[in-house]
Amino acid sequence: MPRPEDWKHLVPLVDALRTAANMTVSPGFQPNQGDWDCLMRDPLDLSILRPLIAADPHADEPSPPPLLTAFTAGQASALAAELGCKNDASIGRHELAHTVGVAESSFCVFRYNCGRCGETFTDITKGDEAYGELAARSAGTGQLVYINTFADPVFSELSELGRLVLAEAHLSPPDHRRGPAIQHAYAAACDLSGDGTIFQVGAHPHCPACGNDWPSAWEHTGEHLTCDIPEPSHGRWRSLTPEQRKALVRKHVMNSLSD
Ligand SMILES: [Zn+2]
Repeated sequence: MPRPEDWKHLVPLVDALRTAANMTVSPGFQPNQGDWDCLMRDPLDLSILRPLIAADPHADEPSPPPLLTAFTAGQASALAAELGCKNDASIGRHELAHTVGVAESSFCVFRYNCGRCGETFTDITKGDEAYGELAARSAGTGQLVYINTFADPVFSELSELGRLVLAEAHLSPPDHRRGPAIQHAYAAACDLSGDGTIFQVGAHPHCPACGNDWPSAWEHTGEHLTCDIPEPSHGRWRSLTPEQRKALVRKHVMNSLSD
């Protein structure tokens, strides 16, 4: 169960970021793989956070200083080195934020009929007319992320690797097979969602009544909504070597084409 004492020490950091016009994009702190995180719209501005860390009375103690635990390992090491803390190994228990971006975009409002319980509900997604723009959802809870394939450099890199592995395998699938195969590989290049599951491009929303993610019918209501939706992060992808990236693309493209 959520216990405010688990993340209470991080609240001053979130408040300072919000005062500086960075915004939270998750509804407060949420569980994430046994810890807690709070998603912020913009990358963390260390110049705002540095004074708070420096003022932390525990900053020089050998046990984890509470505020340092707010950072990802790389950020905390940099701060700890700069501030002369001795304990940069004991960091990262709580992550204040994944530095995902958030993009404003227009979404179609769809009406869905749940294939299990019959509930009728509306939700947003990307329609076919949104060329180069995709919506993906987490497998666990249907958390929505927005993908602009022209703006995300990982998508271009991955498309190029996709072309390469297809050429090496002497395959030239038609566009309607190639596109989904690249999207399938792209989803594998995204970090896991807040609920700890993978994102799936084009997946349906989950029924608010029973949680089922396979509607029996869906249609565009004709309405559109402009919303700020998080974009997926690629920390895991960026940690891979070029060979590992190519192997991952090959695996997912081939799996998709063999379906
Ligand atoms: Zn349902």
